[in-house]
Amino acid sequence: MSHNLATLCIHAGMEPDPSTGAIMTPIYQTSTYVQEAPAQHKGFEYARSQNPTRQALETALAVIEKGNYGLSFSSGVAATDAVIKLLQPGDEVVAANDMYGGTYRIFTKVFEKFGIRFRFVDTTQVENVEAALSSATKLVWLETPTNPLMNITDIAAIATITKAKGILLCVDNTFASPYLQNPLELGADIVMHSATKYLGGHSDVIQGALIMKDADLRERLYFIQKSCGAVPGPQDCFLVLRGIKTLHIRMERHCQNGAMVAHFLRNHPKVAKVYWPGFEDHPGYAIASKQMRGFGGMISFELKNNSVEEAKRVLSSTHLFSLAESLGGVESLINHPASMTHASIPREERIKNGLSDSLIRLSVGIEDANDLIADLEKAIG
Ligand SMILES: *Cc1c(COP(=O)(O)O)cnc(C)c1O
Repeated sequence: MSHNLATLCIHAGMEPDPSTGAIMTPIYQTSTYVQEAPAQHKGFEYARSQNPTRQALETALAVIEKGNYGLSFSSGVAATDAVIKLLQPGDEVVAANDMYGGTYRIFTKVFEKFGIRFRFVDTTQVENVEAALSSATKLVWLETPTNPLMNITDIAAIATITKAKGILLCVDNTFASPYLQNPLELGADIVMHSATKYLGGHSDVIQGALIMKDADLRERLYFIQKSCGAVPGPQDCFLVLRGIKTLHIRMERHCQNGAMVAHFLRNHPKVAKVYWPGFEDHPGYAIASKQMRGFGGMISFELKNNSVEEAKRVLSSTHLFSLAESLGGVESLINHPASMTHASIPREERIKNGLSDSLIRLSVGIEDANDLIADLEKAIG
């Protein structure tokens, strides 16, 4: 199909149900499939290995992320887990030093003890990545924009280096969503998503995804998916499929509202710094403009006096912005990375990477932007 993304969001993976013609993919709530004779079946044997609802979702994921194959997982970290299971003891991974706290946790607390080594560098400087590679490096793991500092890494530049050395490149594309950025088109080998966020879009499901172009890589990851078993249930697949149908409209509004809130914060006398890649003086602006189609609705900021108490007061004073972990849903959320989403990163490590104790992160939803601004105005005071 050569349709545009808005059309693909609605039609990708969607075939009328063969048995009834139902326009919506049914929730195939089944664990197994009846076979006509031993090993004579319709391509479905056991639901850990195949499920039609999951298959429809995986097709949709592949199409909107410009890959050939999609695989969905029971959570974003389960998708990350599957990628690291491609590796062996002694292998090294070069990863971003500013990324989702749970990714850092699974790398350092789960996989290091199996002999896989992780080196964390500031990936916004391509030469740092290059300098960290060794003959044992098998994977480079990027997140861009990063959570929570909105740092931007040049995916195409890193891909040129990893390709030349035969190293896999995986990009966590959760913050941008396939609507704003397609890392496979920039040379990445694997795209990872927490579908819990923008893909699902309604804060009602936990799910992860991997998308790739290469058939052999798909086979290896599918083998891990079915062998390790972190598969999502069919109802959750249905919810993410439904979420994808409005991804393009939601992302447009997230971007519009994000821009309005970012500018409001920047002009506020009590705000010291706003982290949002759409500002022309953001260090990653040129690269973001090149590799993204919009700047999204994720914004972090610091107050002028830099006091943790004042930040906590603001965090507890908003009404439309709910104080909660997560992001990417239709409703706006406010979060304190140091004590919430990023508490699993040691404080020393956080401060070193520029994540202060007073940083506030917003996931700007798709409510009326003026109402959101009024809410922040009142809370900041
Ligand atoms: C939430 C998140 C994850 C983890 O996904 P889960 O669905 O919570 O397991 C990974 N990366 C990023 C950028 C996230 O925001």
